[in-house]
Amino acid sequence: MTQRNRPMTDLRWLLAFAAPARGVLAVSVLARLLGHTASAAALALPAWAIGAALTQPGDLSVLVVVAGLIVLALAAGALRYLEQLTGHLAAFRLLGELRIWVMHRVLPQAPAVIDVRGAARVLDVAVRDVDRIEVFFAHTIAPAISAVLLPAAAIGFTAATAGPPTALSLALVLAAGWAVSLLGRGAGRQTARVLGRARGDITQHVADSLRVRDVIQGAGTLEERLAAMRELDARLGAALTARSRRAGVRHGATALRVWGGTLLVLLVGLATAPGALPAVLLAAALVPGTATGLDTLERLAVSLPAGLEATRRVRELAEASPLVPEPSEPTAPTGPTAPISPISPISPTGLRGPGFSGVSTQATAPAGGSRIAAELTDVTFRYPDRPDPVLESISLHLAPGTTVGITGPTGSGKSTIARLLQRHRDPEAGTVTIDGVDARRLGSTQVQRIVAVADQDPFLLDATVAANLRLAAPGAPDAALEEVLRTACSPLPLDRCIGPRGSALSGGERQRLALARTVLRAGQAPGGIAGAILVLDEATSHQDPLTQERVVAGVQRLGTSTVVIAHRHETLRPADHLIHLENGRVVPADSSC
Ligand code: ATP
Ligand code: MG
Repeated sequence: MTQRNRPMTDLRWLLAFAAPARGVLAVSVLARLLGHTASAAALALPAWAIGAALTQPGDLSVLVVVAGLIVLALAAGALRYLEQLTGHLAAFRLLGELRIWVMHRVLPQAPAVIDVRGAARVLDVAVRDVDRIEVFFAHTIAPAISAVLLPAAAIGFTAATAGPPTALSLALVLAAGWAVSLLGRGAGRQTARVLGRARGDITQHVADSLRVRDVIQGAGTLEERLAAMRELDARLGAALTARSRRAGVRHGATALRVWGGTLLVLLVGLATAPGALPAVLLAAALVPGTATGLDTLERLAVSLPAGLEATRRVRELAEASPLVPEPSEPTAPTGPTAPISPISPISPTGLRGPGFSGVSTQATAPAGGSRIAAELTDVTFRYPDRPDPVLESISLHLAPGTTVGITGPTGSGKSTIARLLQRHRDPEAGTVTIDGVDARRLGSTQVQRIVAVADQDPFLLDATVAANLRLAAPGAPDAALEEVLRTACSPLPLDRCIGPRGSALSGGERQRLALARTVLRAGQAPGGIAGAILVLDEATSHQDPLTQERVVAGVQRLGTSTVVIAHRHETLRPADHLIHLENGRVVPADSSC
């Protein structure tokens, strides 16, 4: 899609998104039309009264004019309140829906999206850009409609009362209001784009700097980091200055238009319709009388491009094509651990499988089902921006209930295997089979219900131990939580608050809590814990050797099919089968260094 027609497409998309709130928005538009009519009339009435007093003295009661003004002022105030209230009510409701829509679409592809863009940039779009769209819902639809209808009504009324020439001069002055707000439109869009990018980069820079603060402080490179920030800020400042300059020109042009325009209408009216003084004065008063409405349009020249640019970024984030295409009709698992109902919803309570007490036993394999829980067959994989394959002709068989260990030097492709198993990526050649079905045909949702991964650097919420665990199984009873904590050798009390990202825990405690959560999640697999595939990717790297062994042994007792990735062979002693990777290829284990 070209940049040229993109804003129109985004506008149409926003209008379609706003459709459910059209009732409330219609009230807002109506309140604005009536409110602005009352405001314009509040200026036009005294102007007309002065004209009437000059031409027909004694015909008009001052009291009637004052009473009329009071009524108009009260009506204008009340209607403005109603317009703002309904406009914002609709906007906040729609923004809430939009946030949910974004989250719903971004979450399934989060690891891939974050890998490519950076978490802070994603946050900037998902939170702040969504807020920037408020301007469209609350301050665009009603002003745009009333900025057409009110001037049209003012021109028609003037034509009928003061004659066509006066109406024509008023039409020119009001059209100039539209023209002023369209001044620098293209540049405005360009600036909004630069501003959006600069803000995202600044957010990412601040987030990254905070994460590596110790390195910066220790190495004394704060000045370099600040210099980079200044550069980003200069980019932002240049765009803001350009935007303010254009806004300044528009403000000046507006002031000139209103007061010069009032004079023009007055002069044209006096010259062409001297006998209709009240109507001419009224027409002249309609220039400042409609100024508030057209001023809003002028302010939209800044906020609307920003809102549309934000819409573009939000849609780009939420509608990005996933890294792995999903099948239109996912195939059900057919392997040894396939459940009776393969895509049944996640069980809200308890754990299923032989490793957990008081629960059902492992689902049995259908006759003739595969004897493999997971299998990589001749898999070759390369990351899009890397010319060489990271994995080459890799094969791996994980029999139900067994443990496969993967070792290899750093960068040899171990975690990439974990990513393929949980279908964050698809192989370039070969197949990944989960529960008897090609992961591509099974679809990411089913794969990720079966495959649970615990990695070395888990993310924990700023909440209690129990709340962190219940992310994996919202309805799990305390006893089930305690059970998984025991499996992961984690003696933490359920009500302990663990701080932001688990900062109140040691590295080892964090890992064991996350591992307990992964075990709990595996217990929610359609075939129960024994039907799950557990991948521990350096998930015990912060533990002492004894704890490491106890944790792996605890997991093995669950009867689940497990892949344990570790640098050290000792960690993998309990594995039924071991493979060693080097440069993305399987080599005999004894050739390891
Ligand atoms: P470690 O033991 O250090 O965790 P690993 O064996 O798990 O290493 P992988 O994470 O699988 O290694 O990475 C294998 C190779 O792929 C590395 O050279 C790495 O630089 C590269 N790589 C990993 N992720 C990406 C990515 N998202 N984009 C491009 N290259 C990547
Ligand atoms: Mg790794």
